[in-house]
Amino acid sequence: MKKTLREIADILETDAPSEEFAGAVIEGASINTLTIQPGNLFVPFKGEKTDGHKYVRQAFEKGAGASLWQKGVPDQPSDLPIIVVNDPEEALQKLAAAYRLENHFKVVAITGSNGKTTTKDMIAGVLSTKYSVQKTEGNFNNNLGLPLTMLNIRESTDVAVLEMGMSGFGEIELLSNIATPDIAVITNIGESHLQDLGSRENIAKAKFEIISGLNENGILFYYGDEPLLKNLVAQTEGLKCASYGYEETNGLYPRNTVIDDAGSRVQLGTEETWVSIPVLGRHNVLNGLATIRTALHLGLTLEEIEEGFAKTEMTSMRMERVEGAHGEVFINDAYNASPTSMLAALQFLEEAKAQGKKIAVLGDMLELGDNEEQFHREIGQKINFNEIPVLLAFGPRSRWLAEEALERSPLVYWFDQHDELITELKKHLSEGDLVLVKGSRGMQLEKVIEAFK
Ligand code: ATP
Ligand code: MG
Repeated sequence: MKKTLREIADILETDAPSEEFAGAVIEGASINTLTIQPGNLFVPFKGEKTDGHKYVRQAFEKGAGASLWQKGVPDQPSDLPIIVVNDPEEALQKLAAAYRLENHFKVVAITGSNGKTTTKDMIAGVLSTKYSVQKTEGNFNNNLGLPLTMLNIRESTDVAVLEMGMSGFGEIELLSNIATPDIAVITNIGESHLQDLGSRENIAKAKFEIISGLNENGILFYYGDEPLLKNLVAQTEGLKCASYGYEETNGLYPRNTVIDDAGSRVQLGTEETWVSIPVLGRHNVLNGLATIRTALHLGLTLEEIEEGFAKTEMTSMRMERVEGAHGEVFINDAYNASPTSMLAALQFLEEAKAQGKKIAVLGDMLELGDNEEQFHREIGQKINFNEIPVLLAFGPRSRWLAEEALERSPLVYWFDQHDELITELKKHLSEGDLVLVKGSRGMQLEKVIEAFK
């Protein structure tokens, strides 16, 4: 976004700063003085721990072009270009929505319980072969991150690929109405946020809010093997949509799939050609299908799509292959975990070819609500010990998982300290072994891999 302060004040329906500043041009926005870029609009928030208004001067020292200021907050500087608003968060969202409505670029919006970031990276990477693309950085996928991302989309960009996260009803609706997507994608329905939403049906409904802001000609691409999504689609009149998934009833499905330790290759529907998706695991075939569906819609050929996949850089800690110092291979999937993604990663480990043996290092799955014990026990019951002979579990909840596993295999260990787990893992590791490392973010299991690099 590139606008004068007067234009910004008009959008926010508030007073422009004094004449001296009103013509100054602002580019993009930031809420963080550590990463602010010259010319940005600084947006201060009153948080629980700190108040962003304290950093306004610092923001200007780092090159901010202007700042918002919440009405009533004392000590407002009079010598700086400042726009006073009732609520900075609302103002940020309003600005982002207004910028979006100017329609310089197309928007692809992605939600789902698992695979949002992966699919976002894939779609952005693949579309880059044909378009100028910008995407959500890291996990900037919420009520602040999404509007900030939007305001930092350049006018020369063709497609913005945006991740939308949520923890309750109404959140995706808000984001979708700001982003008014041309294409919306729902990757799957899992169990994360069960604690807040109460049931998988409710999780599906909350994700489905992504259609509320769809453009007039907008389309939804959804994971059609999920009955909850199929039901919601069937109940919605006039929705333009298409599904993808493994089942042949989907608009896009793989007739043949080959999975190996470099990724996968799929032959689509009735097509003869194969497409390579160089990301590990069966679940990433689905993220790949979402990507292919989106790219075909935006006019790419299968050749361009395959070329795009080959060039795509994935965000770290999602099924990331890391070589250990002594010829071991780690699969770093320590970014997050839920029952769905845990089983997907375990399935990959079971099916993968390894020179040595296979080991699973599994940490707690957080935020699962009242049924957390049951979820952890089920994972312990489902591990295939013929394929994965060694299990190291980590964290208080994983004790349930380990208890179940111990009923079925002797090589099961449980820890609540990283260093103790690392010591035990060293005893088991040999050259050629394949080690899956997965747990919720709070378990910091990437530390285990660091010890072997
Ligand atoms: P977050 O809500 O934390 O932002 P996310 O939706 O962005 O998560 P990713 O970061 O892409 O998801 O992946 C998180 C985990 O989910 C990874 O560990 C991955 O193994 C697993 N995963 C990715 N895609 C799928 C999928 N389509 N189905 C099931 N599990 C998946
Ligand atoms: Mg994410």
